[in-house]
Amino acid sequence: MTAAVSVDLGGTWLRIRSGDVIERVPSPSALRQPGVAADNLLQQLMDTLDRHAPHGAAVNISCGAALDEQNGVALGSGPLWGGAPTGEIPLLSMLSSRRPDVHWRLVNDVTAGLASFALGFARPTDRHIAYFTISSGIAARTAILTDRSIPVDHRGLQGEVGHLRASTSAPEAVRTLPCACGGIGHVSSISSGPAVQAVADVLEIRYDVDTFASSLAAGDPDSSRLLRTVVEPIAELIRTMIALDPRLDRIGIGGGVAEGLWEFYERELTGQLAETRSYADSLTPERVADIIHLCRPGDIDTLAGADAIADGFLRVTKI
Ligand SMILES: [Zn+2]
Repeated sequence: MTAAVSVDLGGTWLRIRSGDVIERVPSPSALRQPGVAADNLLQQLMDTLDRHAPHGAAVNISCGAALDEQNGVALGSGPLWGGAPTGEIPLLSMLSSRRPDVHWRLVNDVTAGLASFALGFARPTDRHIAYFTISSGIAARTAILTDRSIPVDHRGLQGEVGHLRASTSAPEAVRTLPCACGGIGHVSSISSGPAVQAVADVLEIRYDVDTFASSLAAGDPDSSRLLRTVVEPIAELIRTMIALDPRLDRIGIGGGVAEGLWEFYERELTGQLAETRSYADSLTPERVADIIHLCRPGDIDTLAGADAIADGFLRVTKI
C-alpha cells in the first residue's frame, strides 16, 4: 500500500501527518526567519519534506500561499517567502525533481479549508458554498456543489479578497493603514490578525490579544468599537457576495481571528449583516443564521481537506 502523508504549510508551523501521528515543526518561512532569502527558505522546506516522505509515498500539501493548483506554481507570498523576486515559485516541479518517486499534490490552504468545511457542514440542498479564512491573511473560496467544482481564473486564483480595498465607515487613519502587500487600506490592512493591533493603535484603543475576548465579554465599549471596525470590511464583502449570488447557500468563517473570538465575532458579523439599509437587503436575522457558520477551533481540518481534494471530492477547474 502507498504510504500517505498530509502536510499543512503555514507561515508559522509546518504540520506533517503520517498515519495517526501529527508532527509540528517551525515553518521555514519569512515570518519565522525574517531577512533569510526565499531560496534558502525553500531549500529548508525541500529538506524537511524529503525527510518525511517515505519511498513512493503520496504526499498531499495544503499550502498557505496563493497557488495555481493545476501546475503547482505558488505566487510569492508574504508570510511564507517574503515575496519571491520573480513572484512565482514552481513548487511542484521543485518537489518532483527532488523526489521523483513521490506523488506530490499541492492545494491552497483556503481550498483545503473549503473542502473541509464542505465535508463537515454542507447540507444536501446547498448549491454554492464559500469559506473565508481570517487569520494572518484573508481570503475566500467558493465551490459549486451542484457539479463539485471550484472555478478559478487563468492564473489559478479565486477569492483573493484580502487585497481588495476595504469597504469601511472607519476614520481616515484606519482607511489608510498599509497592507503587507504594499497596498493601502486593503481588507487585510484592517481585518487580519496583525491588523487588529494596527487598527487599535490608530483608534487609540488599548488592545491585548490575550484579554480581548474577556474585555468584549465585560462589555468594554472601546473593545466593542475595535471589533466592529475590524469586522466591517468582512461583513461588507459577504453582503456583496450574497447580493451577487442568490445560490450562495452557506458561508463558513474560519481562521484564527474569527475562531479565537468565536461568539463575539459571530454576534458582531451577523448583527452587521442583518442591518437593513435599503430595499435591496434580503438578509433577515433568520436568513443570516441560515447562511453563516462561524467555525469553532477544530471544525476545519486543512489536512483532511487537502486529502479530500486529492481524492477528487472537489475539482479545481480553470475557466
Ligand atoms: Zn494588500
